Amino acid sequence: CLLYSSVTPDVRERTLIAVKPDGVQRRLVGEIIKRFERRGFKLVGMKMLQASEAVLGKHYHDLQRKPFYPALIRYMASGPVVAMVWEGHNVVRSSRLMVGETDSSQAKPGTVRGDLSVHISRNIIHASDSVEVAKKEIGLWFHSAELINWETSDHSDLYQV
Ligand code: GDP
Ligand code: MG
Repeated sequence: CLLYSSVTPDVRERTLIAVKPDGVQRRLVGEIIKRFERRGFKLVGMKMLQASEAVLGKHYHDLQRKPFYPALIRYMASGPVVAMVWEGHNVVRSSRLMVGETDSSQAKPGTVRGDLSVHISRNIIHASDSVEVAKKEIGLWFHSAELINWETSDHSDLYQV
């Protein structure tokens, strides 16, 4: 019975991570992928694309009324983005911690933004901020056929099985 099991269940979540146009321009794609791989998360989808205004409008729907919104959309559409879906235990929360504060100047050293960027308007990476939002964003950026269900051979080194 799971309830009395001594095994701590792993919460297998998925999240959307995107290297923004400034991160791609600055050749930080590999550095960012490396951090997620080394942490132990599993890549289940990845593509490079030039984001359409339609997708960006939905993606940043909640920010529509912010003064920086037009500049944000221009920035996000200015060049290719590398969109990824990463899977693992608590990956939504963990990746937000790995990414750091929205304002790069407040982001702690050790975080992607805190190590690799200086300004809120060029903060190089996106990460979904909740499990619900992650589901919506993954559906917006990926077709289900683009996501691969696969098992890592080192699963038992990362998780109690
Ligand atoms: P995130 O979830 O940490 O990316 O932050 P938000 O969801 O609050 O904002 C989305 C994105 O809008 C940020 O990553 C920034 O690229 C941009 N942004 C947010 N706040 C500001 C701001 O005050 N000024 C500017 N120029 N851009 C902002
Ligand atoms: Mg956000």
